[in-house]
Amino acid sequence: MDFETARAEASALREVIEQYRVAYYSEGASLVSDAQYDEKIHALEALERAFPELVSADSPTQQVGAGIVSVGFPPHEHAERMLSLDNVFSIDELRDWAHKTREAAGRPVRWLSELKIDGLAISLAYRDGVLETATTRGDGRVGEDITENVGWIPAIPQRLSGSGWPEFFEVRGEVFLRGADFEALNERQHALQAAWAAEQVAKGRDAESLPTRYPEFANARNTAAGSLRQRAENKTPEQLELMRDRLGRLALYLHGIGAWQHPGAVDQSEIYGLLAGWGLPVSPHTKVFGTIDEVVDYIAARGEHRHDIEHEIDGIVVKVDELAVHDALGATSRAPRWAIAYKYPPEEVYTTLLDIVVGV
Ligand code: NAD
Repeated sequence: MDFETARAEASALREVIEQYRVAYYSEGASLVSDAQYDEKIHALEALERAFPELVSADSPTQQVGAGIVSVGFPPHEHAERMLSLDNVFSIDELRDWAHKTREAAGRPVRWLSELKIDGLAISLAYRDGVLETATTRGDGRVGEDITENVGWIPAIPQRLSGSGWPEFFEVRGEVFLRGADFEALNERQHALQAAWAAEQVAKGRDAESLPTRYPEFANARNTAAGSLRQRAENKTPEQLELMRDRLGRLALYLHGIGAWQHPGAVDQSEIYGLLAGWGLPVSPHTKVFGTIDEVVDYIAARGEHRHDIEHEIDGIVVKVDELAVHDALGATSRAPRWAIAYKYPPEEVYTTLLDIVVGV
């Protein structure tokens, strides 16, 4: 391919990716599946690899989120940048990444392996043991201040318990809806729609021509994102009640730290112990392995039982456990170098792969 053709293709890809990102990050809507989105990003990455002149700071391959902060919530600057994750889509790529990372660390490392929760990233800042701000990721530097809404989420402590927390620190995690809560929300929508329709019919309206006033939610991730970013302003008492119900069902697992001087821990897994001791929610599914072979086995075993977990997952995040290595390796403009997300193939592809492997 010549440069001009590549430039035209890259520009077309960026345009369509931008539309998907605006819908996903600002409106909580998916115009295409995640796998289709990832394909477009890959195609763009491949062009940028072949023609490095095409790489620019505003390319979606170099950015966190869509760089958009919606109107309504005040902007809030993170004390430390909030990053995304680089992805791999095959075990070979994962092994390759692990090899390079170990080489860069200059010594053997432990691999912290976590479920990749399909939710919405959040940053919580605590001062003197009290929640000061809750902020969405935004473009990684500035997010939306959603502290007010977080007050309605019992899963997010307003005050820490225990003792020994730093005067000020930021923690990062994922807000999500458990499968059971997602279903309960949709049941509530059905019940509300049925009750409203019955009322309208009693008033003489034709049942067939009634609009859908309480639509079903499409998926747990986008519902969690939409719930978190609702505005209380101008809502009727009924709408406020529904908003609180949605917020009250949100769950959180913390999976990282932001600004935090001298965490007083050697490993990230140790940090999770500290957080749990202060009443902050951490995932019970985290594992630490000494070799990448063990990580690969874990990925395979988890992949077969993806739906046994209480929330949706779209992969496994593999991190170097040692915090000193995090400092030594640092980050690119969009992701830390000491972590990677292995993404499972879309479900139907994965099922077929498993069938081939086990010879069904
Ligand atoms: P990402 O979702 O691939 O990974 C980064 C995020 O994973 C982090 O910011 C963090 O919040 C989250 N995460 C979950 N569990 C974690 C854990 N245990 N440890 C650390 N982080 C964890 O990256 P992204 O930049 O948020 O979004 C890109 C992805 O979003 C795409 O690959 C695609 O799947 C989806 N997307 C879809 C569309 C669409 O139209 N369908 C559009 C944009 C993005």
